Amino acid sequence: ASQTPTVIIIGAGMSGISAAKTLQDAGIRDILILEATNRIGGRVMKTQFSGYAVEMGANWLFGGGPVHNPVLEMAKKVKLKTSLNDYDNLTSNTYKQDGGLYPKKLVEAVEKIAVARDDFCAEFSTLLTKKVKKDVDISILAGQRLFKQEPKTPLEMVIDYYHNDYEDGEPPKVTSLKHTYPRNEFVDHGEDPYFVADPRGFEIVVQYLAKQFLSSLKSDPRLKLNKVVREIIYSKNGVAVKTEDGSIYKAKYAIVSVSVGVLQTDLIDFRPKLPLWKRLAISDFSMTIYTKIFLKFPYKFWPSGPGTEFFLYTHVRRGYYPLWQHLENEYPGSNILFVTVTAEESRRVEQLSDQEIEAEVMVVLKTLFGNNIPKPEDILVPRWGLNRFYKGSYSNWPDKYNQNRHDQLGDPVGPVYFTGEHNSNKYIGYVTGAYFTGIDTANDLLGCIKNQTCRGYNSQHM
Ligand code: FAD
Repeated sequence: ASQTPTVIIIGAGMSGISAAKTLQDAGIRDILILEATNRIGGRVMKTQFSGYAVEMGANWLFGGGPVHNPVLEMAKKVKLKTSLNDYDNLTSNTYKQDGGLYPKKLVEAVEKIAVARDDFCAEFSTLLTKKVKKDVDISILAGQRLFKQEPKTPLEMVIDYYHNDYEDGEPPKVTSLKHTYPRNEFVDHGEDPYFVADPRGFEIVVQYLAKQFLSSLKSDPRLKLNKVVREIIYSKNGVAVKTEDGSIYKAKYAIVSVSVGVLQTDLIDFRPKLPLWKRLAISDFSMTIYTKIFLKFPYKFWPSGPGTEFFLYTHVRRGYYPLWQHLENEYPGSNILFVTVTAEESRRVEQLSDQEIEAEVMVVLKTLFGNNIPKPEDILVPRWGLNRFYKGSYSNWPDKYNQNRHDQLGDPVGPVYFTGEHNSNKYIGYVTGAYFTGIDTANDLLGCIKNQTCRGYNSQHM
């Protein structure tokens, strides 16, 4: 990199790396990527747990659909180890609050209604987009009410959780119908859920993309790790980016790829303050938390074999340790189980100690499998919401948030451009969304660099 690069990219997650690659391919080679942590990958992040690589962040890739999924393509190139998850048997594996399974027929009936409700919501959303004024939107819950089959009982709630919260990270009550249904990631890329379980981690895919333009992920001068950006001073003349260690980097433009959760905090101080329209667009969007709690046991006491990979736990409190998965297919003999919680439950458990969480989880497991089950040997609780570099897991489109505001979320301000998963129009929350927005933002900036059509300087934008 030269002394003053043309573009500084803040963050080396999927969107930052894909933006950088797009600039490089277009001949803009003097770039500098500043990343707060000691690695690239961002929310695509594995860790070692009891000798096995588990994904704390993104875990699934989707395939089998009519639209090419470039992230899946890259995964294939690096021979990423995945297994196709099978949720079909959930109706046989749904436990009551006080233990014991629900009769399969009963769960099947509830599931059938949930599927019909999803179909209705998808059709109704299309109708809203086509026929009703641009700004009109409703929550998924309102859509469910229009279907006249709003989930009410704990069993209906846990099935609804599986259909919605488990994907959006937030309940139907707060989630936009129009911008969530139909679920583009599945419609386009497919509903085949490829679960990543690879010793190298899902992050090998981000590394693969980065290696196409960086000579090394440790020593290429265009990538600086452990650089926490704290201040971005911007004007018509360019940007000055200050990091926590006191360094200052100057460039003509910046691309900010941090999560919307981070933008909602004061980690990065923009000078001058970002304009009000931008701050409103940032503060009104939603960053949710999705928590996978991993538990390692000395031996298996849960059902194993075909059709047992997932089970549901029903509770009057919606989302209380609802969805469980074992890793026997991926890591035979690992004796690892994990349970997923989201949104307010995630916020709550993040405040507890690991011991307190373990105690709650063990009450649930003892209810299902008896009092003689062993204590876990280890527990892993990712705390995405508390981490200042993420402040949550991924974004979710709130029901009162319109398209105009979302466009503003992604709009540049002077020489400062914005990218990241939350700016995706089609695949919000997904690694594919991050990948595509990186390309889109870079192309937007290239238009400015090469053709002088700089959207950041539209009169409304400064
Ligand atoms: P990030 O990955 O957050 O990249 C931003 C980068 O900026 C990070 O590396 C961060 O360290 C860095 N940064 C932050 N602040 C600063 C600063 N001040 N200075 C410098 N650098 C900074 N997606 C799927 O497709 N499938 C899934 O199954 C899936 N499950 C998920 C489960 C969980 C628990 C989580 C957390 C995410 C999941 N996702 C999933 C979402 C997916 O991981 C994200 O959409 C995607 O990785 C986001 O990429 P990004 O580049 O937009 O943001």
